[in-house]
Amino acid sequence: MTFDYDLFVIGGGSGGVRAARVAASETGAKVALAEEDRYGGTCVIRGCVPKKLMVFASEFPGMVDEARAYGWDMVNAGFNWGAFKTKLHAELDRLEGIYRNLLKNAGVESFDARATVVDAHTVELSTGERKTAKHILLAMGGQPVKPEIPGADLAITSNDIFHMEQLPGTMLILGGGYIACEFAGILNGLGVDVTQYYRGAQVLRGFDDEARGLVAEEMRQNGVDLHLGTNILSMARDASGRIRVVATNGDERVFDQVLFATGRSPNTDAMGLEAVGVKLGRGGQVLVDDYSQTAVPSIYAIGDVTDRVNLTPVAIREGMAFVETVFKGNPTKPDHELIPTAIFTQPEMGTVGMSEEEARDKGPIEVYCTSFKPMQTAFAGRPDRVMMKLVICADTRRVLGCHIVAPGAGEMIQLAGIAVKMGATKEDFDRTVAVHPTMSEEIVTMKAPVRRA
Ligand code: NDP
Repeated sequence: MTFDYDLFVIGGGSGGVRAARVAASETGAKVALAEEDRYGGTCVIRGCVPKKLMVFASEFPGMVDEARAYGWDMVNAGFNWGAFKTKLHAELDRLEGIYRNLLKNAGVESFDARATVVDAHTVELSTGERKTAKHILLAMGGQPVKPEIPGADLAITSNDIFHMEQLPGTMLILGGGYIACEFAGILNGLGVDVTQYYRGAQVLRGFDDEARGLVAEEMRQNGVDLHLGTNILSMARDASGRIRVVATNGDERVFDQVLFATGRSPNTDAMGLEAVGVKLGRGGQVLVDDYSQTAVPSIYAIGDVTDRVNLTPVAIREGMAFVETVFKGNPTKPDHELIPTAIFTQPEMGTVGMSEEEARDKGPIEVYCTSFKPMQTAFAGRPDRVMMKLVICADTRRVLGCHIVAPGAGEMIQLAGIAVKMGATKEDFDRTVAVHPTMSEEIVTMKAPVRRA
């Protein structure tokens, strides 16, 4: 049987673009890709990239205050959201252009259209055209979900935040995950009066307790009005056009804007997947085996649509492993062990491996931890604290987890992640000479465990 293509990729985000490009340029495969929205996907267009640029923008007021404490005569005359937004979107346009060119230069045929699956080897484009392919790769990503709360349609999501006409004076953020905590810090830094409601006992569920505790403490210290054990009961637009929110704790307050950061769901609706035999999980995610193959042998899936580890670099790895397996004849499982990651809260959290709580359940551990006021901000009279923590297996001495809460923790954990991935022991860390004076030197100078468990 002959097909139009060797590979048809649905979704032009980080994972899909990488898989398409590498399959075409490195194996000579005939590849097509369909994207219904903008090339670059969540990460580039409405996620990591614009978010990080907003993190940078939001940090300047703190720097100006600090500069003053260091003797500089500085005035912060305010933030111009309109000017920033114009520049931000010009940058996103530029990046989208790069993504399109990457595909073009690799010889991938791209379609600005929605694609759905018709059978094991056929997709249908929203233009009405049908295309056949030996393999189909699902890389549609995910989208924000809103809980069913009366008035929920009044809230915006992370998709909308980069398009706000103006910065609100007051904002309520609902949720305690990555997105909620990151935007709480960003908007607070940009001068918005931020309140955050999270239904659980502590934000950033699943991360190391001590680390997320410090992040929450510092967020409050920086001015975020964080309410734990609190959810929204209902919302309604009041006469002034603002949003009146009734909370589970009995509070009734009015906000200019409400942001829901209450999780994301895979883009599998109305894709025709179940009809062709692709199995979906309870959350709508595409179920795949260790090689990213679905229940239909010719159809594979990578990235957020599979809801494994929803991070851009992981989707890219999954895409590369797919190409290796299917187009290079070298069966390769994407490695989901010991993935370093950063949460761009203020301060940032960088983490790799197990939390203390997770490790404790698996066997005897030693915990090394230090928390201190870093030189730079302490000099400026700020109360900020940072934290460095190692979780060690008491038997093998291996570092099971490394957790850093500090400005620049994302940069630090990338490097610490190499050592942890290599299987470094506490003694390997001890043998490494400190870089002085830095914050991260504390990671190699912790002498005695603070706890054994
Ligand atoms: P998360 O799943 O991390 O967090 C969702 C939050 O919303 C949780 O605090 C959850 O509470 C809460 N929630 C869920 N349902 C409800 C509800 N019905 N009412 C009230 N609260 C609710 O999702 P995010 O949207 O923050 O992020 C999605 C994913 O995107 C992340 O998991 C991550 O993989 C990725 N991401 C990564 C980033 C990075 O690498 N820096 C940055 C941003 C996103 P509970 O804890 O109780 O379930």
